Amino acid sequence: SAKRDGKDRFCLFETEMMDAMQRRRFLEVDLRRACMRDDFEVFYQPVIDSQTGVVTGAEALLRWHCPERGYVSPAEFIPIAEELGLVSRIGAKVLQQACRDATTWPEELDVAVNVSPVQLLDPRLPQIVSQALLESGLRAERLELEITETALLGDDEAALRTLNHLRDLGVRISLDDFGTGYSSLSYLHRFPISRIKIDRSFICRLPDDEGSASIVRAIAQLGESLDMKVTAEGIETSEQLSFIAKHGCDHVQGFLISRPIRVADFLALLEARAASIAA
Ligand code: C2E
Ligand code: MG
Ligand code: MG
Ligand code: MG
Repeated sequence: SAKRDGKDRFCLFETEMMDAMQRRRFLEVDLRRACMRDDFEVFYQPVIDSQTGVVTGAEALLRWHCPERGYVSPAEFIPIAEELGLVSRIGAKVLQQACRDATTWPEELDVAVNVSPVQLLDPRLPQIVSQALLESGLRAERLELEITETALLGDDEAALRTLNHLRDLGVRISLDDFGTGYSSLSYLHRFPISRIKIDRSFICRLPDDEGSASIVRAIAQLGESLDMKVTAEGIETSEQLSFIAKHGCDHVQGFLISRPIRVADFLALLEARAASIAA
């Protein structure tokens, strides 16, 4: 009966809720321990020039293999780290590691590091960034910090001060997941942003979906007229690649080119691509 179905569905819902709450509690404990033992690893996803296919750098993406729970996505554990007050510490480690790793790459390659809104509101961030640059010897121009629109919403005066400070260090700022936030476009010229990254949700239905195609073209034009670089993320097919290459996106990353990989594999990929271009 309908009533019976309703009750079963409620029980199922309740069970799922309990499972989710329990997983969350376990993850909190595991994450604190992982943070203490520094159980994380930084992977790199190559970024290429959309016109030439040349690798211009990589985005650092954090990986956590939890002994009990296996692979846990940063999309799940970063928000928990933010709530537990661990994200600045974890983020500082990622910055240090990424800067160190990038010094082993050819000089012309950039490294991009994600910065959570919580890190951006931490007044120690510019000091942490300049320390990571100093210790590694990486030129500031090679470091790009990826922030999201959400980071510019709340205390935007503090965010502006921090971003200007970072720009003065020589570091560049990218706006990640562009088009998915709620804020107005006014921040594009208020904040020192030099790159827009078009969110994967607009890329995945290219080239057939008219709506996505229009949005991508419009963002590329916006970037061009504001003198910003534009990256398309989440490129999975060669049709998507040719579409965005034709419509003014400067750089591309996605599974079509490479998944995020270990730093040794990134160096091997660089060599393999250089060899195939030379051949
Ligand atoms: P994001 O910065 O937008 O990173 C892009 C995400 O898309 C990555 O997921 C990447 O693996 C995935 N991706 C790239 N190309 C493709 C593709 O062609 N297809 C599909 N389906 N996915 C693709 P990942 O590594 O799971 O990271 C998820 C999010 O977690 C990141 O989104 C970022 O917001 C956050 N994150 C990752 N590492 C860090 C970090 O070190 N610090 C902070 N604060 N956040 C991080
Ligand atoms: Mg990113
Ligand atoms: Mg993104
Ligand atoms: Mg994202």
